[in-house]
Amino acid sequence: MKILVSACLLGVPCRYDGQSKPCPDMEMLQKQHTLIPFCPECIGGLPTPRDPSEIVGDAVISRSGRDVTAEYRRGAEEALKICRMFDCRVAVLKEKSPSCGHGKVYDGTFSGTLRTGDGITAALLAENGISVYGESDIPALLTEFPAVPFTKMHGIGNDYIFIDRICGVPVDDMASLAVEMSARRFSVGGDGIICVCPPEDPANHGRMRMFNADGSEGKMCGNGVRCAAKFLYDSGYVPEDCREIRVETLSGVRTLHLQVENGRCTGAAVDMGKAVFTPADIPVLVSGKKVQSYPVEAAGETWKLTAVSMGNPHAVIFTDKPEALLLESLGPALEHHPLFPDRVNVEFVRVLDGEHLEMRVWERGSGETYACGTGACAAVAAAVLEGYCAAGKPVTVRLRGGCLTVTVAKDWQVWLEGPAETVYRGVWQPE
Ligand code: SF4
Repeated sequence: MKILVSACLLGVPCRYDGQSKPCPDMEMLQKQHTLIPFCPECIGGLPTPRDPSEIVGDAVISRSGRDVTAEYRRGAEEALKICRMFDCRVAVLKEKSPSCGHGKVYDGTFSGTLRTGDGITAALLAENGISVYGESDIPALLTEFPAVPFTKMHGIGNDYIFIDRICGVPVDDMASLAVEMSARRFSVGGDGIICVCPPEDPANHGRMRMFNADGSEGKMCGNGVRCAAKFLYDSGYVPEDCREIRVETLSGVRTLHLQVENGRCTGAAVDMGKAVFTPADIPVLVSGKKVQSYPVEAAGETWKLTAVSMGNPHAVIFTDKPEALLLESLGPALEHHPLFPDRVNVEFVRVLDGEHLEMRVWERGSGETYACGTGACAAVAAAVLEGYCAAGKPVTVRLRGGCLTVTVAKDWQVWLEGPAETVYRGVWQPE
């Protein structure tokens, strides 16, 4: 929303005494809305500094007795023109001023006494349907016109809407917001939202909470946490020379190594923790130590899957033709298979050689996505388990959105590396 604002509230030294009157609440207003600074007295033709003036009857008179009504009216008319030009339906104006004051203004005696009434500009704007607020009304205004600044980011097409909770962007219901904002074609669109929050442990740099497009909360996302690290670095929340970032997730603290070019983070490698194959820890309702090439019926066929947890549950299926599969029906059938009490992400993987895999992924709660970091890790871990790839060697995984590099150590520790990109910034303010 575009808001006309008294310039002095934004720190412009345009007051009669050559000073400004900066208002601390402006910072949050500026984060959520587009502010258009304007000083009616300056634009009306008065110099700075100038004699203070007050409204006396129908006129505006300066303390030295000069009639400055014409200048005040000209400034008010220009303010109205600016509002119409920029489609401002709201103005936040300096309280008590003979131009900008709304509700109360000085009474014309130059004694500091207030009377009920509006300044010349505030009155003209209100007469023309513009809602006028004073600076003390900003908290109420933020509640009345909620807006959420966001940053759209992606890691090889795994796209999320990032919301900065460190600077205090207000969000009451993150799950509902994720559903509203993630809807493709009808909204911003994305695989979900990721809120970047202050860390619970000050030894870490930030905490991320991610909500899938269906509103369910995800524990961890490899591409999401890499973008979160870029968000923290590019937003200046970590020192410029910092190259190792620790981010808290619902799956524990993740350490990331940043790639930085020209002061911006371009990508990151993340320690994804250990691949886990124990059925109870995935969870998958199969007895034994591992679920490997386990036959499962879904969508009228039998599929052999290997179950892996990368902090979230995965079922990896090796197949010669992932591109030929009908994921619209197969994906939900496997995601909701009764073997997986928490549902499951499913990877359909073709082995090209010992260092290259190709895959499609069906993400729990989001459907088919261009990329899934934990999915790529699960695919390589399963490929190492099956003997397709060697432990300790980087494996390039080609997904629909691009390539990721995954290295699975002999002790099943997994590192994931790839690009992280910012697409654009915006403000979410539904009509
Ligand atoms: Fe501030 Fe309004 Fe006075 Fe200009 S006219 S200094 S914007 S209160």
